Amino acid sequence: MNYYDQHLHTYFSFDSDEQFENYLNDQPDFFVSTDHLDLKNPYSGFKDDIPDYIGYTKKLAELSKHWDTIFLKGIEIGIVPGQEETIKNYLISHPHDLILVSIHQNGRFDYMDELVLTKDKFAVAQEYFQQMLTVLLEFHQGDVLTHFDYGLRKFDFSKKELEQFEPLLTDIFKKVIDLEMAVELNAKSFIKYGNAELYEFAVPLYTALLGGKSFTLGSDAHVASDYRLGFQEMASLLQKNGIDELTVFQGKERFLTPLPI
Ligand SMILES: [Zn+2]
Ligand SMILES: [Zn+2]
Repeated sequence: MNYYDQHLHTYFSFDSDEQFENYLNDQPDFFVSTDHLDLKNPYSGFKDDIPDYIGYTKKLAELSKHWDTIFLKGIEIGIVPGQEETIKNYLISHPHDLILVSIHQNGRFDYMDELVLTKDKFAVAQEYFQQMLTVLLEFHQGDVLTHFDYGLRKFDFSKKELEQFEPLLTDIFKKVIDLEMAVELNAKSFIKYGNAELYEFAVPLYTALLGGKSFTLGSDAHVASDYRLGFQEMASLLQKNGIDELTVFQGKERFLTPLPI
């Protein structure tokens, strides 16, 4: 099996209008979209953004009739501490093959909101990583920890400045390993927000110090032209760190695939 993009959005997300068909031009063997579930989302005036599961299921069934591609069901869950139980229950009645765990907001603001620029960047990062750890301690249904640096994207953080969060990041990555989850290299962070340097710190912390081996690459595309964005660059960072395989999640099954280099 070849690695396929495990993080991308379609019109089932509140912030994308992209059509499935536009992602399918080179007829991939497997395809998974990961649309947003964010409860009480500050981006949407604190309303619940939940993908239309019935519509999604119907759309995948219809696509399967016309394409040889195998369609899997994915979701990107943004979690705020306190929402874990509600989301667990949602996932029991709405099964998925791939569950991404994201921290996007804290119940007051999204970490990508302009408002964060009025705050101390170290205090924001501290709150962000603490929230991530709290969520991982309570929520054990996820497959992939996405964009670990989302809460830092609005700021300029150097690798050196990130180092002061090593104890918290160590606890986070240990929990990821305990839960048999994968760490995502996220192309929006890595390429678009110029945070490759932060991954150069985080990847060896997770692998060399803690023994973590499981990674995914995600373009986090919201338009089809970003499909598989940054895969070369992100794969070569992993290769430099002695990683030569990626994990793909298909329901309870997981497979190792070669790095797309
Ligand atoms: Zn996200
Ligand atoms: Zn995303």
